[in-house]
Amino acid sequence: MSTTIASSSAEFDRRARRRLPGGVNSNVRLAAPRIYFERGAGARLYDVDGKDYVDHLLGQGPNILGHAPEPVQSYVSSAVRRGMVYAAEHEEELIAAEQVCDILDWPDMVRFGVSGTESVQAAFRLARAFTGRRRIVRFEGHYHGWLDNTLAAFPAEGGCIPASAGQVGDYLEDTVITPWNDLDAVRQRLAADDDIAAIVTEPVMLNAGAIEPCAGYLEGLRGLADEFGVVLIFDEVITGFRVALGGAAQRYGVTPDLAVYGKAVAAGWPVSLLAGRADLMERFGTGEVNHSGTFNASVMAAAAVRSATATLRDTDPYDHIEKHGQQLMEVIRDASNRHRLGLHVQGLGMAFHTSFGPEAPITDYRGVARTDGAKYGRLARFLIEHGVWVAERGVWYVSAAHGDQDLHDAESRIDAAFRAFA
Ligand code: PLP
Repeated sequence: MSTTIASSSAEFDRRARRRLPGGVNSNVRLAAPRIYFERGAGARLYDVDGKDYVDHLLGQGPNILGHAPEPVQSYVSSAVRRGMVYAAEHEEELIAAEQVCDILDWPDMVRFGVSGTESVQAAFRLARAFTGRRRIVRFEGHYHGWLDNTLAAFPAEGGCIPASAGQVGDYLEDTVITPWNDLDAVRQRLAADDDIAAIVTEPVMLNAGAIEPCAGYLEGLRGLADEFGVVLIFDEVITGFRVALGGAAQRYGVTPDLAVYGKAVAAGWPVSLLAGRADLMERFGTGEVNHSGTFNASVMAAAAVRSATATLRDTDPYDHIEKHGQQLMEVIRDASNRHRLGLHVQGLGMAFHTSFGPEAPITDYRGVARTDGAKYGRLARFLIEHGVWVAERGVWYVSAAHGDQDLHDAESRIDAAFRAFA
Protein backbone atom coordinates (compact mmCIF):
# COMPACT_ATOMS: atom_id res chain seq x y z
CA MET A 1 0.00 0.00 0.00
CA SER A 2 1.45 3.37 -1.00
CA THR A 3 1.65 5.83 1.89
CA THR A 4 2.57 8.85 -0.21
CA ILE A 5 -0.29 11.07 -1.28
CA ALA A 6 1.87 14.19 -1.43
CA SER A 7 5.59 14.84 -1.73
CA SER A 8 6.21 17.59 0.82
CA SER A 9 4.86 18.86 4.11
CA ALA A 10 3.69 22.01 2.36
CA GLU A 11 1.66 20.00 -0.15
CA PHE A 12 0.17 17.79 2.58
CA ASP A 13 -0.75 20.91 4.52
CA ARG A 14 -2.48 22.56 1.57
CA ARG A 15 -4.64 19.47 1.14
CA ALA A 16 -5.24 19.03 4.86
CA ARG A 17 -6.61 22.52 5.38
CA ARG A 18 -9.52 21.68 3.10
CA ARG A 19 -10.58 18.60 5.10
CA LEU A 20 -9.26 19.11 8.61
CA PRO A 21 -10.06 22.39 10.42
CA GLY A 22 -6.80 24.32 10.63
CA GLY A 23 -5.15 21.29 9.07
CA VAL A 24 -4.97 19.58 12.49
CA ASN A 25 -6.94 17.35 14.85
CA SER A 26 -6.06 19.00 18.17
CA ASN A 27 -6.08 22.75 18.75
CA VAL A 28 -2.86 22.33 20.74
CA ARG A 29 -1.17 21.73 17.36
CA LEU A 30 -2.48 24.88 15.67
CA ALA A 31 0.55 26.93 16.72
CA ALA A 32 3.18 24.40 15.62
CA PRO A 33 4.84 24.48 12.21
CA ARG A 34 2.95 22.16 9.88
CA ILE A 35 5.40 19.32 9.35
CA TYR A 36 4.21 15.93 8.16
CA PHE A 37 5.96 12.97 9.70
CA GLU A 38 6.51 9.68 7.98
CA ARG A 39 7.57 7.77 11.06
CA GLY A 40 9.07 7.84 14.51
CA ALA A 41 11.75 5.46 15.78
CA GLY A 42 13.42 5.65 19.18
CA ALA A 43 14.25 9.27 19.96
CA ARG A 44 13.83 10.45 16.35
CA LEU A 45 11.06 11.67 14.08
CA TYR A 46 11.41 11.55 10.28
CA ASP A 47 9.43 13.91 8.08
CA VAL A 48 8.20 13.50 4.52
CA ASP A 49 10.72 16.12 3.39
CA GLY A 50 13.63 13.83 4.28
CA LYS A 51 14.67 15.50 7.53
CA ASP A 52 15.11 13.91 10.94
CA TYR A 53 14.47 15.49 14.32
CA VAL A 54 15.70 14.68 17.80
CA ASP A 55 12.31 14.51 19.51
CA HIS A 56 11.98 16.32 22.83
CA LEU A 57 8.21 16.69 22.71
CA LEU A 58 7.52 12.93 22.61
CA GLY A 59 3.89 13.25 21.55
CA GLN A 60 3.33 15.69 24.48
CA GLY A 61 4.73 13.10 26.89
CA PRO A 62 3.43 9.60 26.15
CA ASN A 63 6.50 8.24 24.36
CA ILE A 64 8.50 7.56 27.53
CA LEU A 65 10.07 4.51 25.83
CA GLY A 66 10.68 6.40 22.58
CA HIS A 67 8.74 5.91 19.36
CA ALA A 68 7.52 2.42 18.46
CA PRO A 69 9.16 0.60 21.40
CA GLU A 70 9.57 -2.98 20.24
CA PRO A 71 8.31 -4.91 23.27
CA VAL A 72 5.12 -2.86 23.55
CA GLN A 73 4.38 -2.71 19.82
CA SER A 74 4.87 -6.46 19.42
CA TYR A 75 2.82 -7.34 22.47
CA VAL A 76 -0.11 -5.08 21.56
CA SER A 77 -0.07 -6.11 17.88
CA SER A 78 -0.26 -9.75 18.81
CA ALA A 79 -2.93 -9.19 21.48
CA VAL A 80 -5.28 -7.34 19.11
CA ARG A 81 -5.33 -10.30 16.74
CA ARG A 82 -7.72 -11.73 19.31
CA GLY A 83 -10.10 -8.82 18.69
CA MET A 84 -10.44 -5.37 20.19
CA VAL A 85 -13.69 -4.73 22.02
CA TYR A 86 -15.83 -7.44 23.60
CA ALA A 87 -18.26 -5.38 25.75
CA ALA A 88 -17.21 -7.94 28.34
CA GLU A 89 -14.28 -8.80 30.53
CA HIS A 90 -10.99 -10.44 29.56
CA GLU A 91 -7.81 -11.67 31.17
CA GLU A 92 -5.62 -8.88 29.84
CA GLU A 93 -7.50 -6.15 31.72
CA LEU A 94 -7.32 -8.04 35.00
CA ILE A 95 -3.58 -8.66 34.71
CA ALA A 96 -2.98 -5.02 33.75
CA ALA A 97 -5.05 -3.79 36.72
CA GLU A 98 -3.27 -6.07 39.20
CA GLN A 99 0.11 -5.09 37.81
CA VAL A 100 -0.58 -1.34 37.97
CA CYS A 101 -1.81 -1.60 41.57
CA ASP A 102 1.34 -3.58 42.47
CA ILE A 103 3.67 -1.11 40.76
CA LEU A 104 2.05 2.01 42.19
CA ASP A 105 1.72 0.31 45.56
CA TRP A 106 -0.98 2.58 47.03
CA PRO A 107 -4.23 2.20 45.01
CA ASP A 108 -6.58 -0.72 45.62
CA MET A 109 -8.37 -0.46 42.31
CA VAL A 110 -8.23 1.11 38.86
CA ARG A 111 -10.76 1.98 36.15
CA PHE A 112 -9.67 2.24 32.53
CA GLY A 113 -10.58 5.21 30.33
CA VAL A 114 -9.40 6.50 26.97
CA SER A 115 -8.19 10.04 27.71
CA GLY A 116 -6.92 11.97 30.70
CA THR A 117 -9.74 14.46 30.20
CA GLU A 118 -12.46 11.89 30.82
CA SER A 119 -10.74 10.11 33.72
CA VAL A 120 -10.47 13.48 35.48
CA GLN A 121 -14.27 13.74 35.11
CA ALA A 122 -14.68 10.30 36.67
CA ALA A 123 -12.52 11.42 39.60
CA PHE A 124 -14.63 14.56 40.13
CA ARG A 125 -17.89 12.60 40.02
CA LEU A 126 -16.59 10.05 42.48
CA ALA A 127 -15.34 12.73 44.87
CA ARG A 128 -18.69 14.51 44.75
CA ALA A 129 -20.63 11.31 45.37
CA PHE A 130 -18.31 10.33 48.22
CA THR A 131 -18.44 13.66 50.04
CA GLY A 132 -21.92 14.83 49.07
CA ARG A 133 -20.31 18.17 48.21
CA ARG A 134 -19.93 20.08 44.97
CA ARG A 135 -16.96 22.36 44.50
CA ILE A 136 -13.42 21.49 43.42
CA VAL A 137 -10.32 23.39 44.55
CA ARG A 138 -7.73 23.62 41.79
CA PHE A 139 -4.73 25.74 40.91
CA GLU A 140 -3.73 28.59 38.62
CA GLY A 141 -1.99 27.33 35.49
CA HIS A 142 -2.90 23.66 35.92
CA TYR A 143 -4.60 21.80 33.06
CA HIS A 144 -7.11 19.00 33.58
CA GLY A 145 -8.59 18.55 30.11
CA TRP A 146 -10.57 20.44 27.52
CA LEU A 147 -14.17 20.04 28.74
CA ASP A 148 -16.41 22.92 29.84
CA ASN A 149 -15.86 22.41 33.58
CA THR A 150 -12.07 22.22 33.34
CA LEU A 151 -10.79 24.28 30.39
CA ALA A 152 -9.80 27.62 31.88
CA ALA A 153 -7.78 30.78 31.43
CA PHE A 154 -6.38 32.50 34.51
CA PRO A 155 -6.70 36.30 34.38
CA ALA A 156 -4.29 38.49 36.37
CA GLU A 157 -7.01 39.48 38.83
CA GLY A 158 -7.42 35.83 39.89
CA GLY A 159 -10.08 33.16 39.41
CA CYS A 160 -10.66 31.56 36.04
CA ILE A 161 -12.67 32.24 32.90
CA PRO A 162 -13.69 30.09 29.91
CA ALA A 163 -10.84 29.65 27.44
CA SER A 164 -12.95 28.85 24.37
CA ALA A 165 -15.85 30.27 22.42
CA GLY A 166 -18.86 28.01 22.88
CA GLN A 167 -17.78 26.92 26.36
CA VAL A 168 -20.54 27.01 28.99
CA GLY A 169 -18.92 29.34 31.50
CA ASP A 170 -21.37 28.36 34.27
CA TYR A 171 -19.68 24.98 34.45
CA LEU A 172 -16.61 26.64 35.92
CA GLU A 173 -18.65 28.09 38.79
CA ASP A 174 -17.95 25.05 40.95
CA THR A 175 -14.22 25.61 40.53
CA VAL A 176 -12.32 27.38 43.28
CA ILE A 177 -8.96 28.66 42.02
CA THR A 178 -5.97 29.27 44.27
CA PRO A 179 -2.28 29.87 43.61
CA TRP A 180 -0.15 26.73 43.68
CA ASN A 181 2.58 26.08 46.26
CA ASP A 182 0.70 28.22 48.80
CA LEU A 183 -0.81 26.12 51.58
CA ASP A 184 -2.29 29.09 53.42
CA ALA A 185 -4.37 29.98 50.35
CA VAL A 186 -5.79 26.44 50.24
CA ARG A 187 -6.49 26.42 53.96
CA GLN A 188 -8.39 29.72 53.67
CA ARG A 189 -10.54 28.37 50.85
CA LEU A 190 -11.35 25.16 52.70
CA ALA A 191 -12.11 27.00 55.92
CA ALA A 192 -14.43 29.45 54.16
CA ASP A 193 -16.47 26.90 52.21
CA ASP A 194 -18.08 23.70 53.50
CA ASP A 195 -19.09 22.57 50.01
CA ILE A 196 -15.64 21.53 48.74
CA ALA A 197 -15.53 17.93 47.52
CA ALA A 198 -11.94 17.67 46.28
CA ILE A 199 -8.57 19.25 45.75
CA VAL A 200 -7.11 18.39 42.35
CA THR A 201 -3.49 19.15 41.54
CA GLU A 202 -0.78 18.37 39.04
CA PRO A 203 1.75 17.17 41.61
CA VAL A 204 4.52 18.78 39.57
CA MET A 205 3.26 21.81 37.66
CA LEU A 206 4.09 20.95 34.05
CA ASN A 207 1.37 22.51 31.94
CA ALA A 208 2.76 25.97 32.66
CA GLY A 209 6.48 25.99 33.35
CA ALA A 210 8.09 23.11 35.23
CA ILE A 211 7.60 23.83 38.90
CA GLU A 212 8.22 21.27 41.60
CA PRO A 213 6.16 21.31 44.77
CA CYS A 214 7.89 23.23 47.60
CA ALA A 215 9.20 21.06 50.42
CA GLY A 216 6.21 19.89 52.44
CA TYR A 217 3.61 21.20 49.99
CA LEU A 218 2.10 17.91 48.85
CA GLU A 219 2.21 16.61 52.44
CA GLY A 220 0.45 19.84 53.43
CA LEU A 221 -2.30 19.26 50.84
CA ARG A 222 -2.67 15.69 52.17
CA GLY A 223 -3.04 17.06 55.71
CA LEU A 224 -5.58 19.70 54.68
CA ALA A 225 -7.62 17.17 52.71
CA ASP A 226 -7.79 14.95 55.81
CA GLU A 227 -8.57 17.84 58.14
CA PHE A 228 -11.45 19.13 56.02
CA GLY A 229 -12.69 15.74 54.80
CA VAL A 230 -12.10 16.42 51.10
CA VAL A 231 -10.77 14.01 48.48
CA LEU A 232 -7.18 14.59 47.33
CA ILE A 233 -6.79 13.94 43.59
CA PHE A 234 -3.38 13.87 41.92
CA ASP A 235 -3.63 14.50 38.20
CA GLU A 236 -0.64 12.38 37.21
CA VAL A 237 -1.41 12.43 33.48
CA ILE A 238 2.05 13.88 32.81
CA THR A 239 3.94 12.87 35.97
CA GLY A 240 2.69 9.28 36.22
CA PHE A 241 5.30 6.73 35.11
CA ARG A 242 7.53 9.69 34.13
CA VAL A 243 8.94 11.43 37.22
CA ALA A 244 9.36 7.96 38.78
CA LEU A 245 7.91 4.54 38.03
CA GLY A 246 5.28 5.28 40.68
CA GLY A 247 4.88 8.89 39.48
CA ALA A 248 4.86 11.89 41.77
CA ALA A 249 3.15 9.98 44.59
CA GLN A 250 6.24 7.79 44.82
CA ARG A 251 8.81 10.49 44.09
CA TYR A 252 7.49 12.84 46.78
CA GLY A 253 6.18 10.15 49.13
CA VAL A 254 2.62 11.47 49.37
CA THR A 255 -0.43 9.26 48.78
CA PRO A 256 -3.55 10.77 47.20
CA ASP A 257 -7.06 9.33 47.51
CA LEU A 258 -7.49 9.20 43.74
CA ALA A 259 -5.06 9.69 40.88
CA VAL A 260 -5.44 9.97 37.13
CA TYR A 261 -2.86 8.45 34.78
CA GLY A 262 -2.53 8.79 31.00
CA LYS A 263 0.25 9.44 28.50
CA ALA A 264 3.26 7.35 29.69
CA VAL A 265 1.10 4.63 31.29
CA ALA A 266 0.65 3.06 27.86
CA ALA A 267 3.82 4.35 26.14
CA GLY A 268 1.92 6.02 23.30
CA TRP A 269 -1.31 4.04 23.05
CA PRO A 270 -4.47 5.98 23.95
CA VAL A 271 -5.32 4.91 27.49
CA SER A 272 -6.06 6.58 30.81
CA LEU A 273 -6.59 5.14 34.25
CA LEU A 274 -8.29 6.33 37.39
CA ALA A 275 -6.69 4.72 40.44
CA GLY A 276 -7.84 4.94 44.02
CA ARG A 277 -8.74 3.59 47.39
CA ALA A 278 -11.33 0.84 47.51
CA ASP A 279 -13.85 2.77 49.62
CA LEU A 280 -14.04 5.40 46.88
CA MET A 281 -13.65 3.20 43.82
CA GLU A 282 -16.25 0.70 45.01
CA ARG A 283 -18.91 3.38 44.41
CA PHE A 284 -18.48 2.51 40.73
CA GLY A 285 -18.70 -1.17 41.60
CA THR A 286 -22.04 -0.87 43.36
CA GLY A 287 -23.45 1.06 40.43
CA GLU A 288 -24.13 4.11 42.61
CA VAL A 289 -21.72 6.24 40.56
CA ASN A 290 -21.80 5.89 36.80
CA HIS A 291 -18.65 5.56 34.78
CA SER A 292 -18.97 4.06 31.30
CA GLY A 293 -17.22 3.82 27.97
CA THR A 294 -17.44 1.58 24.92
CA PHE A 295 -13.67 1.49 24.57
CA ASN A 296 -12.72 1.24 28.27
CA ALA A 297 -10.15 -1.53 28.75
CA SER A 298 -10.21 -2.63 25.12
CA VAL A 299 -7.76 -5.43 24.39
CA MET A 300 -5.43 -2.81 22.90
CA ALA A 301 -5.61 -0.59 26.00
CA ALA A 302 -5.11 -3.40 28.50
CA ALA A 303 -2.28 -4.97 26.51
CA ALA A 304 -0.57 -1.58 26.12
CA VAL A 305 -0.77 -0.81 29.85
CA ARG A 306 0.37 -4.30 30.76
CA SER A 307 3.33 -4.22 28.41
CA ALA A 308 4.37 -0.58 28.91
CA THR A 309 4.30 -0.73 32.70
CA ALA A 310 6.11 -4.10 32.77
CA THR A 311 8.79 -2.73 30.44
CA LEU A 312 9.23 0.38 32.60
CA ARG A 313 9.36 -1.75 35.74
CA ASP A 314 11.82 -4.30 34.33
CA THR A 315 14.16 -1.91 32.50
CA ASP A 316 14.03 0.88 35.12
CA PRO A 317 15.10 3.67 32.73
CA TYR A 318 14.54 6.52 35.17
CA ASP A 319 18.17 7.25 36.16
CA HIS A 320 19.14 7.23 32.51
CA ILE A 321 16.28 9.57 31.54
CA GLU A 322 17.04 11.98 34.38
CA LYS A 323 20.79 12.04 33.62
CA HIS A 324 20.22 12.58 29.90
CA GLY A 325 17.80 15.40 30.68
CA GLN A 326 20.23 17.08 33.09
CA GLN A 327 22.95 16.94 30.43
CA LEU A 328 20.57 18.41 27.89
CA MET A 329 19.65 21.24 30.27
CA GLU A 330 23.37 22.06 30.57
CA VAL A 331 23.74 21.98 26.78
CA ILE A 332 20.88 24.49 26.48
CA ARG A 333 22.28 26.74 29.23
CA ASP A 334 25.76 26.71 27.65
CA ALA A 335 24.41 27.51 24.18
CA SER A 336 22.22 30.24 25.63
CA ASN A 337 25.25 31.80 27.36
CA ARG A 338 27.39 31.49 24.24
CA HIS A 339 24.82 33.29 22.13
CA ARG A 340 23.71 35.64 24.93
CA LEU A 341 20.05 34.60 24.74
CA GLY A 342 19.29 34.77 28.47
CA LEU A 343 17.19 31.63 28.33
CA HIS A 344 15.96 30.31 31.66
CA VAL A 345 16.03 26.50 32.06
CA GLN A 346 14.17 24.90 34.96
CA GLY A 347 12.76 21.56 36.08
CA LEU A 348 13.61 17.89 36.31
CA GLY A 349 15.80 16.20 33.70
CA MET A 350 12.85 14.05 32.64
CA ALA A 351 10.57 17.08 32.12
CA PHE A 352 11.86 20.64 32.10
CA HIS A 353 10.95 24.08 30.79
CA THR A 354 12.77 26.85 28.94
CA SER A 355 11.61 30.46 28.79
CA PHE A 356 12.58 34.07 28.30
CA GLY A 357 11.70 36.06 31.35
CA PRO A 358 12.76 38.26 34.15
CA GLU A 359 12.43 35.70 36.88
CA ALA A 360 14.58 32.75 37.86
CA PRO A 361 13.64 30.47 39.40
CA ILE A 362 9.95 30.57 38.53
CA THR A 363 7.87 29.46 41.51
CA ASP A 364 4.26 29.96 40.41
CA TYR A 365 1.93 30.54 37.49
CA ARG A 366 2.27 34.33 37.75
CA GLY A 367 6.00 33.88 37.17
CA VAL A 368 5.28 31.77 34.08
CA ALA A 369 2.76 34.34 32.84
CA ARG A 370 5.43 37.05 32.99
CA THR A 371 7.78 35.18 30.63
CA ASP A 372 7.88 36.15 26.95
CA GLY A 373 5.94 33.29 25.33
CA ALA A 374 5.89 34.88 21.87
CA LYS A 375 9.69 35.22 21.83
CA TYR A 376 10.09 31.63 22.99
CA GLY A 377 7.65 30.47 20.29
CA ARG A 378 9.96 32.08 17.71
CA LEU A 379 12.98 30.32 19.20
CA ALA A 380 11.09 27.00 19.12
CA ARG A 381 10.64 27.45 15.38
CA PHE A 382 14.39 27.90 14.93
CA LEU A 383 14.98 24.72 16.96
CA ILE A 384 12.51 22.79 14.81
CA GLU A 385 14.04 24.23 11.65
CA HIS A 386 17.43 22.92 12.83
CA GLY A 387 16.16 19.43 13.66
CA VAL A 388 15.07 19.49 17.32
CA TRP A 389 11.35 18.81 17.73
CA VAL A 390 10.10 20.85 20.69
CA ALA A 391 6.94 22.41 22.07
CA GLU A 392 6.20 26.06 21.41
CA ARG A 393 5.23 26.39 25.06
CA GLY A 394 8.72 25.54 26.32
CA VAL A 395 8.36 22.08 27.87
CA TRP A 396 11.01 19.44 27.00
CA TYR A 397 10.67 15.69 27.61
CA VAL A 398 13.29 12.95 27.50
CA SER A 399 12.71 9.24 26.85
CA ALA A 400 14.47 5.98 27.63
CA ALA A 401 15.44 5.83 23.94
CA HIS A 402 17.54 9.03 23.99
CA GLY A 403 21.22 8.09 23.76
CA ASP A 404 24.65 9.66 23.32
CA GLN A 405 24.24 10.22 19.57
CA ASP A 406 20.93 12.00 20.18
CA LEU A 407 22.54 14.25 22.78
CA HIS A 408 25.46 14.93 20.47
CA ASP A 409 23.17 15.82 17.56
CA ALA A 410 20.88 17.87 19.81
CA GLU A 411 23.92 19.84 21.03
CA SER A 412 25.10 20.86 17.56
CA ARG A 413 21.55 21.56 16.35
CA ILE A 414 20.70 23.67 19.41
CA ASP A 415 23.91 25.64 18.93
CA ALA A 416 23.10 26.28 15.26
CA ALA A 417 19.52 27.25 16.08
CA PHE A 418 20.55 29.66 18.84
CA ARG A 419 23.24 31.20 16.63
CA ALA A 420 20.69 31.80 13.87
CA PHE A 421 18.18 33.22 16.35
CA ALA A 422 20.63 35.54 18.17
N1 PLP B 1 -4.35 16.37 32.91
C1 PLP B 1 -3.11 16.78 32.63
C2 PLP B 1 -2.18 17.14 33.76
C3 PLP B 1 -2.67 16.88 31.31
O1 PLP B 1 -1.44 17.33 31.05
C4 PLP B 1 -3.57 16.51 30.28
C5 PLP B 1 -3.16 16.61 28.87
O2 PLP B 1 -2.13 17.11 28.52
C6 PLP B 1 -4.86 16.08 30.63
C7 PLP B 1 -5.21 16.01 31.95
C8 PLP B 1 -5.83 15.68 29.57
O3 PLP B 1 -5.43 14.47 29.02
P1 PLP B 1 -5.88 14.05 27.53
O4 PLP B 1 -5.19 14.98 26.59
O5 PLP B 1 -5.42 12.63 27.42
O6 PLP B 1 -7.36 14.18 27.50
